Amino acid sequence: MSKIVKIGNVEIGGGMPIAVQSMTNTDTKNVERTLEQIKALENAGCKIVRLSVYDEECVEALREIKRKTRLPLVADIHFDYKLAIKSIEVGIDKVRINPGNIGARWKVKEVAKAASDHGVAIRVGANMGSIDKHYFEKFGDRIDALVTSAMDEVEMLESVAFDNIVVAVKSSNAVETILANERIAKLTDHPIHLGVTEAGIYEDAVVKSAFAIGHLIHEKIGDTIRISIAGDPVREVFVAYSILRAVQAIEGIEIVACPTCARSEINVEELAKEVKNELRGIKTNLKVAVMGCFVNGIGEARDADIAVFGTKSGGVIYENGIKTGVVERKKIASTLKEMVKKRLEGGENIADR
Ligand code: SF4
Repeated sequence: MSKIVKIGNVEIGGGMPIAVQSMTNTDTKNVERTLEQIKALENAGCKIVRLSVYDEECVEALREIKRKTRLPLVADIHFDYKLAIKSIEVGIDKVRINPGNIGARWKVKEVAKAASDHGVAIRVGANMGSIDKHYFEKFGDRIDALVTSAMDEVEMLESVAFDNIVVAVKSSNAVETILANERIAKLTDHPIHLGVTEAGIYEDAVVKSAFAIGHLIHEKIGDTIRISIAGDPVREVFVAYSILRAVQAIEGIEIVACPTCARSEINVEELAKEVKNELRGIKTNLKVAVMGCFVNGIGEARDADIAVFGTKSGGVIYENGIKTGVVERKKIASTLKEMVKKRLEGGENIADR
């Protein structure tokens, strides 16, 4: 089992719940917009947020942002070790550095000393796209190159008695991401941050991440995850939780929906999204089915704890395979939410209206 590392008020590793991370894509210097995005990420369930820190003005913005959010923040630093140290001094909870582009070993040591003095974690590791080419020359195998590059960074920090480390090995290729993380998990007991880097636009990123991260989590590898998707980062958090639920790494309500066909009597996609939004964040293991019609739906939703079958005017609701009521369209989502809440309280169902 990995060691526990504290990132602000969140502990990762050591069997703690897998922490979902994301990264702001506002300009860090725009404090107001960045705080708005951090709030949106927090509301979606994000536990740790990373921000790009590319100059001293960003560090000053970080100082203010840190005062106005409770979420643990990670400073993403490239090239300038002084920015890492200054970010630590203004209260950041973790720094992500790339020792390969920070430069001389003494600079990495300075960052480690500052992090040690302030109880701040450092994430190191390697991305397939940015590792030094000598690793590829030395090892014919790309996975060997990636893993060795990351382990060299870990060992560099360990050599200066720094142990508050999170490690990541990433590739934009899902299979390489799996193979590299399986290898690194055998070599280190530092917590592992999982992600498929530069995963692409929504559908490609979701498929790659579900495949790689889902597989690794199922193998009990990984302590924190970030789903990299081009665009709005809030979607990264939603997808992260979908993956964790799919591999049963967390409690949560699973919404299943039929693909629809000519028999459908309701807009299933629209309703399923509405139901998902209504039930988001409720911590219980339940399966809720949204089905387009009653004809075939009853069989197809057999496994669901709660199911709604579309009709011309709304939906018929079943609980544990027993019909409990008929609900008009606009009340379906709120009715399902009340039913779930009643189940959590152990009360009667309230769908008969
Ligand atoms: S539940 Fe009804 S609408 Fe949905 S796929 Fe089955 S038959 Fe078609």
